[in-house]
Amino acid sequence: MALLQIAEPGQSSAPHEHRIAIGIDLGTTHSLVATVLSGKAKVLGDEQGHVLLPSVVHYSENSAEYGYDAKPFITKDPKNTIVSVKRFMGRSKADIKFQHPYSLMGADNEMPAFETAQGRKTPVEISAEILKQLKDRAEKSLNNPVNGAVITVPAYFDEAQRQATRDAAELAGLNVLRLLNEPTAAAVAYGLDQETNLSTDRNYVIYDLGGGTFDVSILRFSQGVFEVLATGGHTALGGDDLDRLIVKWAKKQLNIETLDDAEFAHFVVSARKAKEALSDAASVEMKVLDTTLTLDRASFEQIIKVALDKTISVCKRVLRDAKLELDDIQNVVLVGGSTRSYAVQKVVQEVFNQEPLCTINPDEVVAIGASITANQLIGNSQDGSLLLDVTPLSLGLETMGGLVERLISRNTAIPVARRQEFTTYQDGQTAMLIHVVQGERDLVEHCRSLGRFVLRGIPPMTAGQARIEVTFQVDADGLLTVSAKETTSGVNAQIDIKPSYGLSESDTERLLLDGFKFAEEDKSLRHLQETKVEAERELEALAQAIKADATLLEQDELDALNLATEQLKTQLQGTDLSAIENAVEHLKKYSDAFAAKRMNQHIDQALKGTKLDDWSNSN
Ligand code: ADP
Ligand code: MG
Repeated sequence: MALLQIAEPGQSSAPHEHRIAIGIDLGTTHSLVATVLSGKAKVLGDEQGHVLLPSVVHYSENSAEYGYDAKPFITKDPKNTIVSVKRFMGRSKADIKFQHPYSLMGADNEMPAFETAQGRKTPVEISAEILKQLKDRAEKSLNNPVNGAVITVPAYFDEAQRQATRDAAELAGLNVLRLLNEPTAAAVAYGLDQETNLSTDRNYVIYDLGGGTFDVSILRFSQGVFEVLATGGHTALGGDDLDRLIVKWAKKQLNIETLDDAEFAHFVVSARKAKEALSDAASVEMKVLDTTLTLDRASFEQIIKVALDKTISVCKRVLRDAKLELDDIQNVVLVGGSTRSYAVQKVVQEVFNQEPLCTINPDEVVAIGASITANQLIGNSQDGSLLLDVTPLSLGLETMGGLVERLISRNTAIPVARRQEFTTYQDGQTAMLIHVVQGERDLVEHCRSLGRFVLRGIPPMTAGQARIEVTFQVDADGLLTVSAKETTSGVNAQIDIKPSYGLSESDTERLLLDGFKFAEEDKSLRHLQETKVEAERELEALAQAIKADATLLEQDELDALNLATEQLKTQLQGTDLSAIENAVEHLKKYSDAFAAKRMNQHIDQALKGTKLDDWSNSN
């Protein structure tokens, strides 16, 4: 992959002036803020010394509580206490299929709003309030206004989710220097971009198991520059699932069939406590209802195996994407609260055959990396190379026959711009519909539609003559802009893809998996569609030719041509590729003869014309 240089706006021109830049990890469960002070990254605590801010907001009629103050209301006033708002970011109401206790307002295809004691609150507004808390915390503890911030997002976040995050940050009054993928930030925290004097390339795996999500990335460090080779993950797999597995185990131990909502919540809290305690002890007591269960490390390993196996298969897939073997990996970095579990560390160690890096607190490592990047971007520090991120899904546009032409493949380093030429399908075509899609499949109907726009004002030309240059540009935040230009006339059209909703969690996963599953099927479907489009184009051209030069044909020739045309049209209704190919061949016999006659006639006319000119010139 080519190395891209990243030039950043907002770099300070006065090198000695220290500007305040913060890094914020806006997490599903917890959020936190860090900054670089005297060259050292530090997380910033609140007045009580808490570093983690639970990502929870409670609304009552006249006030709002945040973080730990809001947590007690999760059970007392669930409708007005918003938790895990990150799962709602950049989603339409119809995309939200997971369970939650809230009443959502708004149309199906719109960003939903929570109905709270303070009225409508959108996910963007609620996230903005969390970010504002962290901004205020930073300004209080640094005694200075914040000049800029880097906000981290999961590598899996699509366009809409990134845009929603950026909107939230701006709403919180933050100057967003960059959205940074969380695993990328972790690599920076460990200074993996500071290694020097290495003659060979080095590859790193970042394994991030948080509360509700799993992310894995492979980074390559080569000649002083980092590249993200591949990313993958599970948007609904994390510590919460481990808790639920423990609950399932506890129910079995106690011979309990069903739990009501309150009991289930109680079991989950006990399970989580036991799980977290087990990270520091070989065996723990888990109190549920009136009994006490004993949970030891060996049983815990068995209980959560099913979840960890899923993370491992994702790791293997990402390794394949990056075209690397286990031996090629020099280091593995652990991120996310769940990697504090001994069982998780053990599995990662076994799979990668090496001890993972976990010296930096896995809850804090992302915010720390974000603060280091923020410090570089604001211009306080010149050292270190900026990391490149990648696109999570392929981006392309619709071509004739409902096919997808991929312009940017998934796992391409960003920022990136790709340009490709397209042309018109019909004679005299003056407009073109550009339909932008995201996904790994070959047919548009299997991909996600991101947006459409029309390029108008193409000068009328013969089919295939216009030169339409389409450019896809993904900026450093992962936001896509698509533009189209007819190059002979200079007509322009463009859209920024900033949809009001994004892919649901399961959709991102499904689009990826489908791409692998259906590769073969897609290839034959694509071939069929291409053959059909080509045949239709020939029929169209033939019809034009008959209209112009039917007189060149004897009646029986014309009849044969028309019959072959009808036969092909009939086959085009179906999906039998070889029947279509045969009908095309059959028609070709007659249409080639017709084309030859037309050619002769044109030559005759041209010759006649020459004589006429000669004659008039000589006069
Ligand atoms: P997110 O990035 O999704 O906000 P975090 O990285 O904060 O999540 O991780 C939260 C998860 O980490 C929770 O499931 C929590 O139970 C788990 N966790 C926190 N501390 C420990 C610990 N000591 N041992 C095991 N799991 C822990
Ligand atoms: Mg996290």
